Amino acid sequence: MKPAPKSTMECLINIERAKYNITSTPTLQWLLRLTKLQMNTVSNRALYHQARIVHEAVRREIVFRNEVLALEIGIITTPDFWDCECEEDFIHSSADEACPTCGARRDEQPDSRVNEVSEMLGGRQ
Ligand SMILES: [Zn+2]
Repeated sequence: MKPAPKSTMECLINIERAKYNITSTPTLQWLLRLTKLQMNTVSNRALYHQARIVHEAVRREIVFRNEVLALEIGIITTPDFWDCECEEDFIHSSADEACPTCGARRDEQPDSRVNEVSEMLGGRQ
């Protein structure tokens, strides 16, 4: 399978994402981890490509839901920090590209909540 052009990729991702409208967020988070694991372990190119499309579709749906939720309940976020997938110490400065513990990357993760950042900074003083 040849690598798809970017516009085709976008189209495939959007079609895939439409399938997850009614899927619960915890299931999507599980699917996100599963597809990431697949991308890291599968050796077949077509399977990798498929996993990548699902992963990206699921990731975008989760980001979208987080944004809607933040708007609805008035959460303010800051682009200066981001959250990784660790249970503890999950706030990173945007100068950090990735979390050394869980491997989450800045460009794939949500901005941190302002109240949590100030709590963290306050706790360090
Ligand atoms: Zn982490």
